Amino acid sequence: MKTASPFSFPVSPALAAKLAKLGLTRDADLVLHLPLRWEDETRLTPIRDLLPGQTAQVQAVVTDASVAYRPRRMLTVTVEDAGGVLGIRFLNFYPSHLKLFQPGESFRFNGEVRGGFLGLEMVHPRFAKAGDDTPLPAQLTPVYPTTAGLGQATLRRAVERALVAPIPDTLPAEWLAELGLPELETSIRLLHQPPLDCALAELESRRHPAWQRLAFDELLAQQLSLATARRQRRSRPTLPLPPRQQLTAAFTKALPFELTAAQARAWQEISADLAQPHPMRRLLQGDVGSGKTVVAALACLQAIENGFQAAFMAPTEILAEQHYRKLAPMLSGLGVRCAWVSGSQRKAERTAAWQAIAAGEADLAFGTHALFQEAGSFQRLGLAVVDEQHRFGVGQRLALMQKGSEPHQLMMSATPIPRTLAMSFFADLDVSTIDELPPGRTPIVTKLVSSARRDDVLARVREACLEGGQTYWVCPLIEESEKLQLQTAEDTHAALTAQLPELNIGLVHGRLKPADKQAVMGAFQSGAIHLLVATTVIEVGVDVPNAALMVIEHAERMGLAQLHQLRGRVGRGSRESVCVLLYETPLSELARARLKVIFESTDGFEIARQDLLLRGPGELLGHRQSGLPMLLFADLERDVELLETARDWAQRCLAHHPEIAARHVERWLGSRQALAGS
Ligand code: ADP
Ligand code: MG
Repeated sequence: MKTASPFSFPVSPALAAKLAKLGLTRDADLVLHLPLRWEDETRLTPIRDLLPGQTAQVQAVVTDASVAYRPRRMLTVTVEDAGGVLGIRFLNFYPSHLKLFQPGESFRFNGEVRGGFLGLEMVHPRFAKAGDDTPLPAQLTPVYPTTAGLGQATLRRAVERALVAPIPDTLPAEWLAELGLPELETSIRLLHQPPLDCALAELESRRHPAWQRLAFDELLAQQLSLATARRQRRSRPTLPLPPRQQLTAAFTKALPFELTAAQARAWQEISADLAQPHPMRRLLQGDVGSGKTVVAALACLQAIENGFQAAFMAPTEILAEQHYRKLAPMLSGLGVRCAWVSGSQRKAERTAAWQAIAAGEADLAFGTHALFQEAGSFQRLGLAVVDEQHRFGVGQRLALMQKGSEPHQLMMSATPIPRTLAMSFFADLDVSTIDELPPGRTPIVTKLVSSARRDDVLARVREACLEGGQTYWVCPLIEESEKLQLQTAEDTHAALTAQLPELNIGLVHGRLKPADKQAVMGAFQSGAIHLLVATTVIEVGVDVPNAALMVIEHAERMGLAQLHQLRGRVGRGSRESVCVLLYETPLSELARARLKVIFESTDGFEIARQDLLLRGPGELLGHRQSGLPMLLFADLERDVELLETARDWAQRCLAHHPEIAARHVERWLGSRQALAGS
């Protein structure tokens, strides 16, 4: 298919394809394709003044060029200027290079100087033919992020051509004055072609005002588009579900405990949201064990007492089923009809469950994300609860919404989102936070133990179980192969059964048939199983208060959020709880940093913050969250203040200058994936 070039200057199809690989599909993208770093090519250094370790540019004439084969194949070129001789080596080269370096030809070489075996040399310098009459650039030379087969010179020319046109500012001059930020055009031109007197260190650390301007613009675009999505949602009608204090009051009364102040506050916020005539999108976040489930149950009851249905979804079958088994008996007592749907259910059972749901004979449906796909079959779905939202991702969050009727949505997450992330990527959601644990919990003691001391750990497990406690043994995560992971779990189970014959040992993993899974979990819940060997399927939600010891093998392979989630399975009762992290030496730098964080802190928010520092937001949000455009210029740690400013200005801008908002968003997000409204 032939299409007109999207650029304002001629670009060959081959070049266009390479540019597209970098996400550059129009002039405006090239304009915003900013350098990674800058080289100083404005000066020449005489060869006799070169010092090892220095990066410098020389202009010299080739005296000799040949291919050597020992110690390995390489092209060696000898060059000289008026006062000295320099060796140049290329380990990767084409035959054409040899032809290029003809004796007598003059070149400029730019690279790091090394003290070589035979005197000073440069390895793989950048070079260009140049003589005394070739002018030196007056500015620093930009080095751009590029892709295979696209040279700096070509890319630089493309950027230069895109930069010919003026760059209109999207923001009025008075705003910039108030914000203390430079103009867009000045900023962009400065970054592409910094003047000689520009402080390179400031440029490179991205604290230069020109960078700040770009970071601000990007954050503003993000805030504008999220705030717009939020406004749109608030203008869509849905049926309000006001509190009627019937089922909810009865449920609260039947609970064996009082809600914590934080739970009560979150519940008030949710209850008030449900009463609104537009769809709720609320994230309920609270650390592992903070008691999100009862709050979600209350929300379901408010929907049901208004004559609507509710869906309660969890990421794994184990978790969904546990919610069902725990809540259904209590709720049935209040006259609520519960249904259970799962992907691996027998066909007849599943059909029956769906029939009840479609006919409105079930008030509350529990299940995995299988419910997502069939949410349209509810007779009157008023509320969808999504547990452990971070496991689902944005895609599914949207899929559910797009089914004709628009239910209220409550998402729950035990992986607290650091404030900056919540403010940016989740700014389209309302957030309630449960920031305290129910009383009577004993703090978890975390121990780091080298796997060389596995026997001591076994002795400890035996002792704990014989004293009436229960233990989790979590098998290593093997990302490459689910099969291998299963194998490891089975081997571990066999080994522990042989080593601890006096204990009843169970095994649970993702591949177990649902009935078997249920049987094992049931036996562990009732105390019949002392030691539960598990893969990371128990990562989320499992709740057995008598289990106070957890051993995690190969803890160094796991991420921080995962370790924190796993550890949260203990410390739920009155027993002193211990989590033993077994690790294999030697530890990588990152693994050591992670284990240190998890050892020192049990606070999910602090752990999430450290996680963001160690991994960056892209990974933290996960691939499944990638429906949101990543930030290219802003850094959520470095630019917190800018983010806050951008949020305030986004509100102002939308309220008073919607045309500026539209222009700004188009410029920044126009060619990136458009945000789906929520
Ligand atoms: P999470 O927030 O991790 O989903 P859960 O909802 O599973 O936590 O609650 C953890 C445990 O705390 C459950 O056994 C639950 O019954 C109990 N729990 C919840 N709220 C309270 C409370 N206010 N007082 C005492 N125990 C509570
Ligand atoms: Mg939970």
